[in-house]
Parts: sequence; structure tokens; C-alpha cells
Amino acid sequence: MKPDKADNVRVVVRCRPINDKETSAGHEQAVRVDEVRGQISVQKPKSKDPPKTFTFDTVFGPDSKQVDVYNLTARPIVDSVLEGYNGTIFAYGQTGTGKTFTMEGLRSIPEKRGIIPNSFAHIFGHIAKAEGDTRFLVRASYLEIYNEEVRDLLSKDQTARLKVKERPDIGVYVKDLSMCVVYNADDMDGIMSHGNKNRSVGSTDMNEHSSRSHAIFTLTLECSEKGVDGQQHVRVGKLHLVDLAGSERQVKTGATGQRLVEATKINLSLSTLGNVISALVDGRSTHIPYRNSKLTLMLRDSLGGNSKTMMCANIGPANYNYDETISTLRYANRAK
Ligand code: ADP
Ligand code: MG
Repeated sequence: MKPDKADNVRVVVRCRPINDKETSAGHEQAVRVDEVRGQISVQKPKSKDPPKTFTFDTVFGPDSKQVDVYNLTARPIVDSVLEGYNGTIFAYGQTGTGKTFTMEGLRSIPEKRGIIPNSFAHIFGHIAKAEGDTRFLVRASYLEIYNEEVRDLLSKDQTARLKVKERPDIGVYVKDLSMCVVYNADDMDGIMSHGNKNRSVGSTDMNEHSSRSHAIFTLTLECSEKGVDGQQHVRVGKLHLVDLAGSERQVKTGATGQRLVEATKINLSLSTLGNVISALVDGRSTHIPYRNSKLTLMLRDSLGGNSKTMMCANIGPANYNYDETISTLRYANRAK
């Protein structure tokens, strides 16, 4: 029962609402979202040209509800992870467009909770309903990729850098990565908060740091069930929840030193991810360039094959973001 390839990779677009700061600075709304037609149109500032229009299967306008985003995008992936497949959910976009809002949301306000806390509730709700001999083991890990270096956000030692390795029997893995056994959604939430605190360790500006690093929260769901043969069978599904580094051009031309190195690495990993996803969607490529970045190498077993992938491309509504918005829509369009 192999899921249909075309169904396995999905790209959706979400536009956040304009905010007070933008309105009071006199910025105008440049983006129109037509959720029914799946269309996004963007008007170039001070231009008489017609707006540029992009079409996607699913688009979310500024009034979209977190619960609808979850149900239409993440829920089917989490369901298939509960059945033993792998799944990956990415938030892509320029800093300030709502990646973290989409993935985490405001965790203290139930209706503003994002994909990650909603998936915790979904998973433990499913487990609570399991009957008979069915047993689940849930484990969580949380890491960050910064400058092509992997840091374990759940480890005591925040100075250690981990290696991505490969073994013929288990595939790609991160050596020495902490895995916490989790019993309920509150535990999971605590683990996430703990990891988030570690994200800011050693960075003077959390916003700037998160715009330059990828955060990957991974859940491993092991389900042991009695089969028709009377034996216990184990199936394992993995869910990766990824808040990507900001897609904006990270430095102005002429940057040197550390800034230039960082910018080059972020560009490399985001463009490699775009290449991998478009090669998977295309379906005819014989070579998928997983090895070109840590991010795609690490996620190799969860991108392509029977795995399900969803990318939410986030954009801002205001005209001063025109160039970045067009660039995000082109990226998303290529990946869809
Ligand atoms: P990013 O992670 O891409 O840098 P954030 O998620 O931090 O962006 O969003 C920037 C700001 O906009 C935050 O204050 C966030 O709460 C707000 N925001 C983003 N998306 C939405 C949305 N869909 N609805 C309401 N507020 C949003
Ligand atoms: Mg963020």
C-alpha cells in the first residue's frame, strides 16, 4: 500500500496579517489571497504592472485559523506517522513572516497553538484510545543546525557539536543525540521549552540567532501491536518538525568574515532543500542531492519514498517586502 507520489510532497502558502507597526509606518497591503482559487497576487510597489499571481493547492490568508492550518496540512502527516511512516513538516520564509507562529504559535493560548503543540495533542489523544495489546513508546529529540554544525538542544553540554553519521542497518543518524521518553503532551511541551531556552544560550540576540539557524524537533513513535499471527509487531514512524532559518538575503554584498560564511551556509542548505523537494516532486530525477547539506542529509530517510512532506511557505502582506515575498513564492512554486 504505497501512498501516491503526488500526494507525498505538499507546499502551501500562508500570509500573515499586516501589523500595527506596518500600518502606522504607512506600508500598504501588497498581497491578496484567494483561498477558494488557491491564488496569491502580489502588487509591485509604485508600479502600474498587473500583480504577479501564483497558484497553489492550498493557501491561507491573514485570517486563517491555527486549527484549520493544522487540519488541512499537518493532520494527515501525523496520522501516517502514527501508522509507521516518516513525515516532515517545514516552515519556510523570510524572518518575521510567521514561521514560528505556524510551527509553535502562542502556546499559552489554546486557539493560537501552532502545528507542534497541536501534533502533541493529536498523538497523545490517539495513544489514549489505543486498545488491547497495543503499546506506544514516544521519544523526542531537539536539535539545531547553525553554520552547518549540529547542536543537541536537550543536552547538558551545549558546547558539543554532533556528527551526522550513516550505518547500513539504520541509515542516517545523529551520533550521541539525546532522546527523551515522553508520556504526555505536557512533558513534550516542557521538553520543547527547555530546548528553546538552550537555543538562546550563547546568542546575544535570540531573534537574529533563530533567523540564522534551523530548529528540528523530532518525535519517534514506536507502536507495538499483536498481529493476526498472535505475535507482537513493532512499527516505527518519525515526525520532524522544522522551523527553518530565515530565507531573506542574509547579508548585503561586500560582507566578509563570519557573516559571509553564515550567509553562504544558509543559502546552501535552503537551496539544497529546494532542489531535493523539487527533484522528489518531479519524480524523474535519478539523483536527489541530499548530501549537499546537513539538513537534507539528516532528513534523508524522511524525505521521499513513503514519507510525507509538507512545507508551509510564509509571507508578509506589506509592499516593502515585495522582493522577498516574490522570492519565497518562486521557491514554493518550484517545490510544489
Ligand atoms: P518568524 O518565525 O518567521 O520570524 P514569527 O512567527 O516570529 O516569524 O512572526 C512574527 C510576528 O508576527 C510575531 O509577533 C507573530 O506572533 C506574528 N504573526 C505571525 N503570523 C501570524 C498570524 N498568522 N496571525 C497573527 N499573528 C501572526
Ligand atoms: Mg522564528
